[in-house]
Parts: sequence; structure tokens; C-alpha cells
Amino acid sequence: MNKFLFALLLLYVAPVQAKLNIFACEPEWGALAQELGADRVDIYTATTALQNPHYIEARPSLLAKARRADLVICTGAELEAGWLPIVLTQSGNAKIQASSPGFFEASSFVVKLEVPQSLDRAQGDVHAAGNPHVHLDPHNIAKIATKLTERFAQLDAANAGAYQAQGGAFQEKWRDAIAGWEARAAPLKGLPIVTYHKDMSYLINWLGLIELANLEPKPGVPPTTGHLTDLLEQLEKKPAKAIVRSAYNNPKPAQWLAERARVPAIVLPFTVGGSEQARNLYGLFDDSVARLLSATNAQ
Ligand SMILES: [Zn+2]
Repeated sequence: MNKFLFALLLLYVAPVQAKLNIFACEPEWGALAQELGADRVDIYTATTALQNPHYIEARPSLLAKARRADLVICTGAELEAGWLPIVLTQSGNAKIQASSPGFFEASSFVVKLEVPQSLDRAQGDVHAAGNPHVHLDPHNIAKIATKLTERFAQLDAANAGAYQAQGGAFQEKWRDAIAGWEARAAPLKGLPIVTYHKDMSYLINWLGLIELANLEPKPGVPPTTGHLTDLLEQLEKKPAKAIVRSAYNNPKPAQWLAERARVPAIVLPFTVGGSEQARNLYGLFDDSVARLLSATNAQ
């Protein structure tokens, strides 16, 4: 065989550049990996916006995906404490174990809110590491994006330059988007709301909303009639402008209270896929701000 033919043959049998195999625990991290990795990554997202991320079953299909992952991206701060350790251990995949480069704990790169002074489980399902629902502050997304870009470049060094370029472009576009959201959301400052679970704290902190109460009597404990009745009484003295829940929460308690307190019940997507508009991270924040603004317009 002449050299030319041989080279041609090599071209045909050369394997396609392998993509980074990513296992994202929650939709927001799958979406971020997509923004930063583009066509260099293959993403599997373990949960949907309609699932409560605290309570997921470590199904065999999750184990199978974890087994072939190069990188696991999760929230951490105990959010997945009930299922992720089982998935990691039983995957038998050394690359993705905690403290390996193949394990990325998003919440470890931001300042957490509500870190308890002391741990009293009588207070409900309190997260010892602080509130894990960090993704609803877009400034946190930017910080985590910087670290994730570095991680991609580390794991797939041949494409490090491409990841840096992609990450830089994302940061620029994201900064502009944040400025837009902050301008539009200015009238929301001081808006008193009731939330279902303490999963909006970063959004509330970012936009300067006021969280009057939660529908859950304690974190992770479903709303009870007694607690809702107390809340109704409380709202008569100190009214809320909206009862806000996440797409994955039971709609009934929010509706019950909203009807009686005569305020709108608002569903926020909470993460990518939680509403038709929240198709990606930009849509998530566009839609969340728009839906909250509808509460101020309703008064
Ligand atoms: Zn929680």
C-alpha cells in the first residue's frame, strides 16, 4: 500500500474526538455545562424541574450513567445527601468520587446563606452546610461558571483554549443579562412574599424581596392545615403580595392560602425546564423576574 492510501485509511479509522461525558445532578448544572462545553460535552441530567431534588431514588439507570461519566456536577451542600452517595459508590467509577477532579460540587464555590449556628434536627430538615439552593442568584452562576470552565480545561486539556474562549464569551453575555434582569426587577425590591420551601433564598436575597413565611412548617415538612391557618392569620396583620412556590411543589397549599388571603399564587420555574419559557439559564431568570413582576402588577 502506498503512503498516500495508508494515510487516507488512517483518516477514516481515526476515532472521533471523544466528548466529555457529564452527569449533572440538577437541570441548572446540565444547562450550565451546555453553555460552557457546547459540542465538546455529552450531558445527562439526572433530575427534572418537576422533581424535588432532595428526594430522588438512586435508580439503576442513574448508576449506569454515573458509571461512564468523566465528570459529575452536583449542587452539594447536602442537597443530594439522600441519593448521590449511593450513586457514586455503586457506580464503581473511580474518576467521579468526591475530591477527584471528576467531581464538581457547585455550591462549594459560592458564599452560602443560612448556615446554621447549631444543628438541631428538631428544626426540620436543616442543611448543616447552609442553604444549598444557590443557583437562583445569577451572580453565583457566574462564579460557578468560572470554576467549571477551569475544570473542563483540566479534564480535557487538548481543548483547554476552546473552553476558555467559550467561558469568556459566556461571562460577557451573562453579565449583560444580569444587568437587564436587575433593571427590570427594580420594582420588586421590598416585595413581601410567602414561599413554599426555603429554596428561593438566593433569589430573594439577590432581588431584595422579603420572605414573610414558608408554607412548610419546618424545612422539608409538608404544609399542614394548622400551619396554613396560622399563616392566614399572620397575613391579615402583615400582608404578602404573593404566595410563591416552585414548579416541583404541590400547588394545593399555595392555592388554598392565596385564595383566602386574596393574593396571587405564583409558580416559579425554579430551574431549567420548570416552565415553557425556562428553556435555558437565560429563560429561567427572564421568566422568574417576569412572573414576580406580575404579582406587583396585580395589586
Ligand atoms: Zn432545601
